Amino acid sequence: MAKPIVSLLDGNRTHADAFADRFDDLQDAQHPDAVSVCCSDSRVLQDALLGNDEPGRVFTVGNIGNRVVQRTDDGETVVSGDVVYPLAYTGTETAVVVGHTGCGAVTATYDAIRAERGDADDDPVPASEHPPGVERCIDLLRPRIEPGVDELPEGLDHADAVNHLVEYNVDRQVDALTESADVPDGVDAYGVVYDFQDVYSGDRGEVHVVNVDGKRDPDRIRDANPEIAERVTRRFAY
Ligand SMILES: [Zn+2]
Repeated sequence: MAKPIVSLLDGNRTHADAFADRFDDLQDAQHPDAVSVCCSDSRVLQDALLGNDEPGRVFTVGNIGNRVVQRTDDGETVVSGDVVYPLAYTGTETAVVVGHTGCGAVTATYDAIRAERGDADDDPVPASEHPPGVERCIDLLRPRIEPGVDELPEGLDHADAVNHLVEYNVDRQVDALTESADVPDGVDAYGVVYDFQDVYSGDRGEVHVVNVDGKRDPDRIRDANPEIAERVTRRFAY
């Protein structure tokens, strides 16, 4: 059986054949319509989920837990350069944070919080038992998820709690954009959840808009954004 890299390079051959002539107007500069910040989970195809196969259209940032922030050497939390770059330097005025159902990074963070609290009977994995790089990611997610743990509705099973916290994390990542002085005025920040588990009762693969510029109330979002009104759905009201 061929190594995965063989089929991946075959795929790139097909890509290059199709794209060779598509960079004439792009090869020296980019002015993308949007920056998306998506979890890097293999089930979430960042460009494809937005129907995009057009070079130069979407500036794609990926990491576990769709984080928009990073920590400086001084310990300050700032909007990540991966996200600020297209907003500050390429004229992009739309940012889309893409969380997803069943997110492993949100699960690991939730479990680390439960382990620290010591009130779980299923021995959740504490953050310190992950490789240091993963622990660092959990440390960045924890303050954006922990307050949501205290807001969870009663009686959720573990998977549903995680999916509620996926929304909560998207909210907090959007807040980090709207509240940062590093993000230029005029940037619109959208928070969406990509659902491949059919928990939103749509088609699997559909994104659901849960937040626009920090607004979480679906009716307010629909009123202010009628052109996307039917795409607005939330599960976690708090
Ligand atoms: Zn994820």
